[in-house]
Amino acid sequence: MIDSHVHLDADQYPDPSGAIKRAHDAGVSAMVVPGVGPASNRAVLELARKYPGIVFPALGFHPERFEHSEDGARAVLDMIERERASICAVGEVGLPWYGERAGDAGVIDAAKLTLARFARAAVALDLPLILHAPHARAGEALAIIREAHVTRAVFHWHKSDEQTTRAIIGAGYFISLSPEVAYRARDQDLARMLPADRMLVETDGPWAHGGQFAGRLTEPAMIKEVVAALAHLRCTTFEEVAAATTANSRTLFRTKSS
Ligand SMILES: [Zn+2]
Repeated sequence: MIDSHVHLDADQYPDPSGAIKRAHDAGVSAMVVPGVGPASNRAVLELARKYPGIVFPALGFHPERFEHSEDGARAVLDMIERERASICAVGEVGLPWYGERAGDAGVIDAAKLTLARFARAAVALDLPLILHAPHARAGEALAIIREAHVTRAVFHWHKSDEQTTRAIIGAGYFISLSPEVAYRARDQDLARMLPADRMLVETDGPWAHGGQFAGRLTEPAMIKEVVAALAHLRCTTFEEVAAATTANSRTLFRTKSS
């Protein structure tokens, strides 16, 4: 299995070897690690060099952590071009929803321009996009990436209305489910309606989850529990969900190993 979104460069993982070992023991043999900005992107590349075939790096610019200036995005775009051969995606990038200024029209407009630039770069470099576009931002991000002719993208930890979800699926993009599918009705409804060939699984570690995960450090090994919850919700087998989500990850990120 593959954790399609974990911030293994975060302070909560001072030595990722333990988390990688526990993941391996749980059947999670690879993970996509998206950077959130310049320093994080450098750390992610370092992790990928240290754990080849296990850590697959993506380089990004998190929409809620940085001012959307042309200069800020430029440095990341330059790095993406330079590192094209060693990365599996552009991300995470997207549109802001959480945080004090995320509702300001000016901030959103600037973020939309930034996202369009990353989307065009992803197309030019033939890389998929990892999108952070919660709730109402999902539909807006969908319009931007379609306009840029993006063909490969995942809406990470997706949450939007059903109509938008159906439009995302119809456009051929992927949707990723987090540990919340084990305990939250909204995510469980989504898990039941997604076609098997459109869904990925992720932990978004170190983000702390509730339900059966409460009080535990979020690690890629938890993917085993996410897949088990999905199998239960979709009235199918663990093996079937594991095979489908792993195949989808490989299709999206073109990762070869494990
Ligand atoms: Zn993330």
